[in-house]
Amino acid sequence: GKGKIFNLEKTDTVCAYCGVGCNISLYTDKKNKIIMARAVENKEPNKGRLCVKGRYGFEYTNSSERILQPLIKVNGNFREVIWEEALDYTTNKLLEIKEKYGPDAIGVLGSARCTNEDNYLIQKFARAVIGTNNIDHCARLCHSSTVVGLGKALGTGAATNPISDIMNSNVMFVIGSNTTESHPVIAQFIKENKKKRGAKLIVCDPRSTDIARYADIFIQHYPGTDVLLLNAMAKIIIEKDLINKDFIDKYTEGFQELLKTLENCNLDDASKITGVSKSLIEDAAINYAKGPNSIIFYTMGITQHHVGVSNVLSIANLALITGHIGKPGNGINPLRGQANVQGACDVGVLPDVYTGYQKVTDESVRRKFEEHWKVKLPKNIGFAVSQFSDLIFKGKIKALYIMGENPLVTEPDVKHAKESFEKLEFLAVQDIFLSETAQMADVVFPAKAAYEKFGTFTNTERRVQLIKPAKNPSSSVKDDWKIICEIAKRAGYPMDYKGEEEIWEEIRNVTPSLKGISYKRLEENSIQWPCPEEEHPGTQILHLNGNFKRPNKKALISSVTFQPPSEIPDMNFPYILTTGRILYHYHSRNETRRVKVLEEFVPENFVEINPEDAKEIGVKEKDLVKIKTRRGEIVVRAKISAKPKKGVIFLSFHFSETNANILTINALDPEAKIPEYKACACAVEKFMPT
Ligand code: SF4
Repeated sequence: GKGKIFNLEKTDTVCAYCGVGCNISLYTDKKNKIIMARAVENKEPNKGRLCVKGRYGFEYTNSSERILQPLIKVNGNFREVIWEEALDYTTNKLLEIKEKYGPDAIGVLGSARCTNEDNYLIQKFARAVIGTNNIDHCARLCHSSTVVGLGKALGTGAATNPISDIMNSNVMFVIGSNTTESHPVIAQFIKENKKKRGAKLIVCDPRSTDIARYADIFIQHYPGTDVLLLNAMAKIIIEKDLINKDFIDKYTEGFQELLKTLENCNLDDASKITGVSKSLIEDAAINYAKGPNSIIFYTMGITQHHVGVSNVLSIANLALITGHIGKPGNGINPLRGQANVQGACDVGVLPDVYTGYQKVTDESVRRKFEEHWKVKLPKNIGFAVSQFSDLIFKGKIKALYIMGENPLVTEPDVKHAKESFEKLEFLAVQDIFLSETAQMADVVFPAKAAYEKFGTFTNTERRVQLIKPAKNPSSSVKDDWKIICEIAKRAGYPMDYKGEEEIWEEIRNVTPSLKGISYKRLEENSIQWPCPEEEHPGTQILHLNGNFKRPNKKALISSVTFQPPSEIPDMNFPYILTTGRILYHYHSRNETRRVKVLEEFVPENFVEINPEDAKEIGVKEKDLVKIKTRRGEIVVRAKISAKPKKGVIFLSFHFSETNANILTINALDPEAKIPEYKACACAVEKFMPT
């Protein structure tokens, strides 16, 4: 709630950074500046804990670089204009392009940094006003493989357990997650469970990250060999008769097919290709299977591959053949990246589904939305954001409307993305800063920051939480949802809402899994979906007692075969480049570069090179090195580190100045359309300025 302390206004809200969704008290001074943050004590999910981004990361809201007036570009320069002019101009441009090329020539992006209410309205705007399902957001780039993979295997593409359930597990299996840096408070709970309860920790990662230092078993496999590693574990579990036969028989299908597929999984080959000894794989398999309560955590090390869905399915296989799912301390937990990435997916900012994952191709669902929204809706599935660049390049998409995302830093093969964006006839961006993408826009609308908003966020454990404004925004910026409503109204489709609660009421009215969640209830307590009615307490653990939301109620065990990364090292590009996060920065750094403490900790990018590779290449600590792939090159300072496996080069993706995404490859998973950020071939040499 609200309160006062030493003349500071205290506001309880939710941290605007990662998907843990920590409850945070922000303290605002008389000059309307947030000056301090503390954790809310004794409340789920963080129970009094915060990381450095929660504690200090609010500073960007006070930045003098905030955009305060709408901008229109004239002859390559931005001109400040009044709201009416920018709104009229944008509406006319969008209608003109729709008229000339059809609605599918327009792409729309929502944002995992905006509220559920903002996101619901932007997908409604895309579908009802523009008339296209070309609506997506950055979940495409982090967990689209999860939404597809866990959806296929379990019937629901979301984390199965609450964060607090970590303390009920005996074995924690962490794969492809740099938990300490990406989900710091969850890492604290993992370490605590090990220290206080003696739980075992198994970590699998091509880098020896901080969490790996705490592992009882650490598996350092090559990037892109996850299916082989997980198949080998499944084979060992089956051979040692550590499967849960009862669970397999009662609650799953597909086990016999898996047995057949695993006949071709040779453990010696698996050991050689993954770069991990057979005995270590065996140790991990036996410990995970024996549990008795084993829980899995994974992140983008699993999802960001051209085989992202296969990776997720192989993880599901492990849980299903051992029965480690659907009970306290057992389950599969994809750790979602952004503060509201779970929510943005839940409210339909995806090209194939409306809210609550109701399919746009399902006639009865579409009719329901047509009745509610009183408009004819498009039938075919839209394009994913990872396809936008190519479609713009080919002239199929002519305009983009972007709410709070920065694709010109975050897209793979970003040079190609930039060339494509230059071909757009119209680009409109809503943001709080003039991001790299906003700089290319024809129109920029100044929006409120998360700490200035009302609404809801949904965290990685499906927990819907109310957020409250801790400071007054400048009078010249608007809520993201209000900007969308203004354009909709001008386009002849009135979208009038008195406030966020009215939008939420509409969301829950059309979404069975959110139906029971009201603002009134959220004032008392956060609630985890599914929550079908007001009397329902919400759902902490999914699939309790084998209750899988699949047509025949049985979970699917999949036969998954190994495919190497789309680009493998050769003579010219002999190393594997992998990318990821660091603790002190956040995604495209739009916010954290404006936070002094965080920027001072890590002011510039660096490349991690294994000492043996460094010797081979002839580089020393702090030398400038050139990293090259088939798509481009960057020059960055070397950090000689034993963290990456020999042959693996690591770059963070936060720095637009030395952008890792100049190098990454836009090889997509065929179903999830997620790009393979985690593995491509690169060359490294000492940089010699000429
Ligand atoms: Fe914020 Fe995530 Fe850190 Fe919690 S762990 S304080 S949600 S960045």
